[in-house]
Amino acid sequence: MINIPKGTKDVSPFISYKWHYLEDAVRKTAADFGFTEIRTPTFEHTELFLRGVGETTDIVNKEMYTFLDKGSRSVTLKPEGTAGVARAYIEGGYAEYPQPVKMYYLTPVFRYERPQAGRLREHHQFGVELYGSASPFADAEVMILAKTLFSRLGLTEPVLNINSIGCPECRKTYNAALREYLGNNLQNMCASCRERFDKNPLRILDCKEPGCRKITAGAPRTIDYLCDDCKSHFEKLQSILRAAGIEFKVNPSIVRGLDYYTGTVFEFISDAIGAQGTVCGGGRYNNLVSEVGGKPTPAVGFGMGLERLLMILENLNLPVGEPEIPVIYIAPASEADAEKAFELVNALRSKGISADSDLVGRSLKAQMKYAGKRGYKFTAVFGGAEEESGKIKIKRMEDGSEYECAVSEMAEVLK
Ligand code: ATP
Ligand code: MG
Repeated sequence: MINIPKGTKDVSPFISYKWHYLEDAVRKTAADFGFTEIRTPTFEHTELFLRGVGETTDIVNKEMYTFLDKGSRSVTLKPEGTAGVARAYIEGGYAEYPQPVKMYYLTPVFRYERPQAGRLREHHQFGVELYGSASPFADAEVMILAKTLFSRLGLTEPVLNINSIGCPECRKTYNAALREYLGNNLQNMCASCRERFDKNPLRILDCKEPGCRKITAGAPRTIDYLCDDCKSHFEKLQSILRAAGIEFKVNPSIVRGLDYYTGTVFEFISDAIGAQGTVCGGGRYNNLVSEVGGKPTPAVGFGMGLERLLMILENLNLPVGEPEIPVIYIAPASEADAEKAFELVNALRSKGISADSDLVGRSLKAQMKYAGKRGYKFTAVFGGAEEESGKIKIKRMEDGSEYECAVSEMAEVLK
């Protein structure tokens, strides 16, 4: 037998309804906030992620599925959703359209990680991207969108944690302070952190090694090194969130794992799923578009892990949708009636009523047992008698009650 690759999952036909439930909520919420869908390829030139995500990140250093195609070009399976959108924004000339451009995506994401609960090698993300506004209202808008989705799914958590990591100007003074703080401890840090020390010391704060975490626990905080513009942006964001009634925590330890962030960063963190509690991470990345070859364009967005979101709903026993079963099961009264029943089922379907009939030649009794197990809302028996009288009894499975109507009116009755 050939097994599924490590760290990947099937969505079986018996639970795919949960994904449709999530995706419907996602699409509806995005639309209510004025975001429209963008679809980008599953793979891109490797160069895009090297420049867009950054060479000091875990993603680029350790996690990418990179290979040479048959034309010897280096390509990489999407390790996140944002870089491809930035590429499309530039290549598609989206800057020529009225700004801001508000986009969302639903996409598989590939990362070569050590599989564990809430950590897969292929997972799925809902992400939003708001391009062309530098306003703190835009930051608040994407956060409120995520919060609205959570509320609609019945969640009071996850909790919004926000921080500001400042612009390249603030970063200069901050990096100097951080290097000074870390300097003496550098030999006790992991190899990646020692490398980050020169290239991008801020990344060190996002390291997951316990030894490094201990050292960084008392590190200087970016919010104490913000320039006037970054400071007033961060303060305005907080007052907008307060006015909108969105609860949040300022959490100076949030720096996010990707190089492209500037200013606002945030995470929604849940208590319901153990160690991998971050279900959504995002922020502002005003330098990404220019970094991958476009004109400077302010942008803000987030990525949300849908497997983790579904885990939260299930752990908290919240609704996750209903199995998708046709409305009615039509049982042929006898083997000789199979053709008639088959015709009736197809006639109902052509009128927009979802319906099933027997495909394996079961006895009437076995059919009813099958219909009960699968959970059809209604059943009906169709045979010679029904054909002759033109009448049929529709049974409601929930309470066994029956309703008689003309066969020709079944579709209207079921609607
Ligand atoms: P983590 O710190 O857990 O590794 P991350 O910072 O790498 O997360 P992002 O790149 O911000 O995560 O991705 C956005 C969201 O996607 C995460 O908050 C999480 O919900 C989800 N996610 C990230 N990596 C995985 C994975 N390997 N398996 C499942 N979900 C994931
Ligand atoms: Mg990660």
